[in-house]
This record gives sequence, C-alpha cells and structure tokens, in this order.
Amino acid sequence: QTPALEKHLDAAYGVVLGRNPGESEFHQAVREVLESLEPVVAKHPEYAAGAVIERLCEPERQVIFRVPWTDDRGRVRINRGFRVEFNSALGPYKGGLRFHPSVNLSIVKFLGFEQIFKNALTGLPIGGGKGGSDFDPKGKSDAEIMRFCQSFMTELYRHIGEYTDVPAGDIGVGGREIGYLFGQYKRITNRYESGVLTGKGLAYGGSQVRTEATGYGTVFFTREMLATKGLELAGRRVIVSGSGNVAIHAAQKAQELGAEVVACSDSNGYVVDEDGLDVELLRQIKVVERGRVADYADQRPKATHHTDGSVWDVACEVALPCATQNELDGRAARTLADNGVLAVAEGANMPCTPEAVAVWRERGVLFAPGKAANAGGVATSALEMQQNASRDSWHFDHTEARLDQIMVDVHTRCATAAEEYGAPGNYVAGANISSFVQVANAMLALGV
Ligand code: GLU
Repeated sequence: QTPALEKHLDAAYGVVLGRNPGESEFHQAVREVLESLEPVVAKHPEYAAGAVIERLCEPERQVIFRVPWTDDRGRVRINRGFRVEFNSALGPYKGGLRFHPSVNLSIVKFLGFEQIFKNALTGLPIGGGKGGSDFDPKGKSDAEIMRFCQSFMTELYRHIGEYTDVPAGDIGVGGREIGYLFGQYKRITNRYESGVLTGKGLAYGGSQVRTEATGYGTVFFTREMLATKGLELAGRRVIVSGSGNVAIHAAQKAQELGAEVVACSDSNGYVVDEDGLDVELLRQIKVVERGRVADYADQRPKATHHTDGSVWDVACEVALPCATQNELDGRAARTLADNGVLAVAEGANMPCTPEAVAVWRERGVLFAPGKAANAGGVATSALEMQQNASRDSWHFDHTEARLDQIMVDVHTRCATAAEEYGAPGNYVAGANISSFVQVANAMLALGV
C-alpha cells in the first residue's frame, strides 16, 4: 500500500534502486523523502530541469576502507570503515560516525541522506555526510577502543577537515572515541584544528550542551508540536526507548518540563519505573559503568524489568523512540494509538517504519520525523564549529537558549512548509519540503 510516486520522481527512485541493489534502508529513506515532493516538483519545473533529485540521491563521494587493529591478546583484527560525503551544497559535509556491527553501506547512506535534510532544517551552513564501522565496541577494553580509533583515523584524516567534512558521534561513538580520534588527527596532521570534529570534550574545544543536545532538542520540538493543539508536556506520561545519550537527555528534559517519564529500554529488554525514571542513576549505570537497564531495575524499589514484548506495550501519551532505525513497527504503532498516545517524536534516526507513520496519520497522532525532531544534536555541533572558528567558548545557558530557539525555528519551518503545500500538521511533508527546497536552490545556484 505504498503510495505511487509521480512520474519524474518514480524514474529517479528507479535509478536509486538500480544503482544501489539490496540497500533497503537507503531505499526506505529516499522513498520517504520523494513521497513528499510531488507538489514541489509540480510547482517548480526548474528542479526537474536541473536533475536536482537525481543529483541529490547520488552521494558526492563514498569512501570504504580497511581498519586493521590489534586486540589485547595480540591478534590482528580487521573491520571496515565508511565515510559517505553526501551533499555539500550548504556547507562542509557534517554528520556522525556510527560504530556498530550492523553498519554497512546501506545504513551509512540512509543516515547520510537523512543528514542532508536534517542539517538544512537547522538553518545553519552544514552539508550532509555520515560514516562509521562494523566494529563492535561492546566488551572491548579501553586500550582496544583507542587502537581502533587511531587506526580508523589513520585513513579517515585525509578525507576530512574543518572546511571539508566534519564528523561527530552517533551510536557507539561518544566523548571517549571522539577524544581518541581527535588525538590521532592532531598527531598525524600536526595541526590543532578544533573544528575538524564535534562532540569533543569540554577540556579541548568541545561545546556546552552538545552531549545533551539531541535529547533536549527532541523534547523542545515535542513541546512546540503539542502547543499547536493547545497541549502541554507537563503532567504527561512519557516513554523513551533506548538508554543511551539521546534517551537519557530526552528523559531529563521532559522531567524538567514536568512530564512523568516511566520507561526506557536497551537491547536486552525494557524497564518500567512508576516512580519516574531516576535519570542520574540510569546515566551512571549506562554511560559511566556501561551496564544494562536490568541493573537499573535491581536498584529501584518499584522498577520492573521485562524481556517479553516491547517498551511500546507500555501505555503513554508521548512516545520518544531514541534507540535505532525501524525499532517501532505498525503493530507497535497501533498499540500505542489504542493506548491513547497523543504525540510521537523521533529522537533516533528513522526508528519508526513507514507503516507505523501511516497508522498515526490515520489516527490523528502528532508525529515528528527524526530529521526535524533530533536536529538539535547536529545543530549544537554547528554551534561547536562556530565557537572553534572564533576561538571562543560559550556558557551552558547561552548555548541551551540557542538550541531552544533553533528547535523553535525548525518547528516553524516544518509547519509553514506543510501549510504552504497543502498538508497542514503533516511534519513529514513539512520537514522534507522545507529542507529540500533549501538544498535544491543552493544546488541550482552552484551549477552542475
Ligand atoms: N549523529 C548525530 C545525528 O544523527 C549528530 C551528527 C553531528 O553532530 O554531526 O544527527
């Protein structure tokens, strides 16, 4: 029951399928954007004439490389590294690095493609890219992580730079990894080029609020979206999925705004805590000790740990999927709607399947796609680049206020574009159209 694409878009999508066989996540991300663009190409023949969509769907550059490293037993191990430099019409390529065994070219391309539009929505001058490796950080020693990061950068350094391509973190890449990557870049190039990576530690050119930014931004966006219906976040029952950086800080900000956050999850199950999540304990267990949410349940009187079903079986009014792609399907979407969910905002990249999104559209549930709802992370990366370029460092409150205003603006851009193109309240259409028009106009201006 996927909607048919208009002829020109269908041809472009056919080329994507033919050129990138088997890359299902990439196909899904492209299709989701193209489905919104019919009214845009109808109104603007110059986009078709300039083959903007065909150009957008083909990355400007894709790098795949070998990452050899030595484990603690002295064994030589090999992983595969990726960097897809997707589009630089608006600024240097910008986007995270993901270290996870599921990483392959399709995943990196879907993330890089999403990143083009997300970054445009922030209104800041950043292009789109993404990278990573199929390396699994789970269970590795600190020394192994360091050797892996150093080897990864020994190849990557030649492709990046503050005016070229600026990586950051994503799943499996946090402050520790960025530190090792930056150290190796500095060692090889003999340049203290702070703006080459973002998500750096505060001790060496990082920005306040960068760690919190994705989760905080998702909640700011949710607040704006609820406000369009005259609703508030205060007093609402909220569920997050995941328990990493994004989930933890989404939970923290939702609580600050008066919501009751009662569940989160990891790859081994989920916890329900009717007392409200103790975010500091969760952070201690998941981030500092690198433990499991099951350990959290052991330490809280009312918390229960579940390995059957999913976190989406728990009733809530606001759902914030903050784990990973395609974690929430049509069945889960129906359960959430039956249980009275009012709003869903994606803290992760593409966590909801197209079927899930269709269910909520039919049932009148507010839905914010990741490229809008989680843009606060990369936006704060752009603020980190600003601070690095001016050799400055801003206070927490100032930086958070900038982030909040950026999320208000992202929301306005989406809402306005949706309205203008006949889909009021449809944030998927609004996000895709607003960002596409911005990138497409820049591409046309820059020539073929
Ligand atoms: N990985 C994050 C994202 O998906 C942040 C990227 C960045 O800060 O460059 O947007």
